[in-house]
Amino acid sequence: MKKFNIPQQFDSELIRRLKGRPKKVDGIRDFSPTIWSTGDLTFKIARHFGFCFGVEQAIEKAYDTLRKHPDKRIFFLSEMIHNPLVNKDLEENGIRFIQSTTGEQLIPWDRITSDDIVMIPAFGTTLETERVLQSKGIITTNYDTTCPFVELVWKRSRQLASKQATIIIHGKPEHEETRATFSHAAEKGKALVIRNMEEAVLLGEFISGVVSPEEFTTHFPGRYSDTFNAEKDLTRIGVVNQTTLLAEETQEIADYLKSVMIEKYGNESLSEHFEDTRDTLCYATNDNQQAVKSLIREEADFALIIGGHKSSNTTHLVELSLEKLPTYFIRDEHSILPDGSIEHFDLSVQKYRITPEVINKNNPGTILISSGASCPNSTVEHVILKVAALYEYAKEDLLQNLPLE
Ligand code: SF4
Repeated sequence: MKKFNIPQQFDSELIRRLKGRPKKVDGIRDFSPTIWSTGDLTFKIARHFGFCFGVEQAIEKAYDTLRKHPDKRIFFLSEMIHNPLVNKDLEENGIRFIQSTTGEQLIPWDRITSDDIVMIPAFGTTLETERVLQSKGIITTNYDTTCPFVELVWKRSRQLASKQATIIIHGKPEHEETRATFSHAAEKGKALVIRNMEEAVLLGEFISGVVSPEEFTTHFPGRYSDTFNAEKDLTRIGVVNQTTLLAEETQEIADYLKSVMIEKYGNESLSEHFEDTRDTLCYATNDNQQAVKSLIREEADFALIIGGHKSSNTTHLVELSLEKLPTYFIRDEHSILPDGSIEHFDLSVQKYRITPEVINKNNPGTILISSGASCPNSTVEHVILKVAALYEYAKEDLLQNLPLE
C-alpha cells in the first residue's frame, strides 16, 4: 500500500516497529495480538490499529498544502478526521473549519472567496456543498482528500441505482460520510438512510405493508430522496453502508431485509426485489475489528481503546471490547491521570467521566491496547509509556523487551 509522508509529531518509531510484524503467517492473515511484557506488566496490542490509508492521505495533503501556500487562507469543509489532536494541530497551523461535524455552518459562506483554498475532508462532501463551492469559483481538485474507499460506496450506490434498486444506506444520518453518500446516491436514484436494526425492522413493516406508506414521512424525516414514494420505491432494494460501522450489524440488517423480501415475493423472484451485495466497510474497519475480536480472546484486566469520541470506527472497537472486559475509551495519554484514575468516554451516557483506581502500581497485570483509524502512532506510544510509568516501568525497561519482528 502507498506510503504517505506523515508529520513527525504523529509518528512513532516504536509503534512502527510493533506494526512491522508480517501480516500473514503461512499465507493466512494473522490477527493475533503483539505481546509486550516487562516484569509483571504485559501489554497485548491489537494486530491492526491506527492511521488508515484515507487518514494518512488526508494528513499528507493537508500539511503539503500548508507548506506550499503560506500566503493563502486555508479552510477544511469540516474536521478533516475525527481526531481532536490532529484537528487542533491543523487549527494551530492556521487551518479553519467551515462547518461542524454535523453540518452546522461555523463560518458563513459569504466570508469565503475564490482566493481561498477549501479542502474536502476524508469523509467526502455533499453535492450541494460542491455546488456552493463551484458557484463561488473555488476549485477543489487539488485539495480533495475524499478517501477512495468512500468513493467506492458512491460507485456501489450508482450501480444499485442503474438497476432501479432503491439504495438503503445503513449509517449514522448526522455523520459527514453518510450525508455525503446520501447526497451522491440521491442524485442517481432513490435513497434512504437507516440508522440501525430497529429502523430496518420498521422499514420491513413498510415493505410488507404492515404499516401504511402514508406514515413513512413521519418515521424517516429528512432521510429519503426528494421524489421517494414509499409505495413504489420499496419493491426493489440494495444495501450499502457507512465504511466505519460494525460489520455484524450491517450484515444482520441486509439479511433481515432480504428475509422480508423473500417473505413478500418468494425465494424464486428474490433477484427482482433484492440486490445481494457485500457490505461496503473499508479494509481498515474490517482489519481493526478482526484484530480487536482476536485481542479480546486474550485474558486481561482491562482494555484501553484510543481515539476521538466522535470517531465511528473507534466507537465500534470499544463496543466490541466492552462485550468481554472493562474497556476505557480514551482520547490520549492525558486521559490517564497521575493517581491511576482514567478519564474516558462512556458510550452509555455519551459523556466523559472518571473511573478511579484503574491503575494500581502494586498490582500490574495485563492490558489490551488498540486505537481507531484516526489515532496517531505517537498517541499510542505516549499512552503505553504513561501507563508503564504509573507501574514504575521506564521506557528503557520496555525497550529491552520490545517484541522481535
Ligand atoms: S476509515 Fe476507511 S473509509 Fe474512512 S478514511 Fe480510513 S480507509 Fe477511508
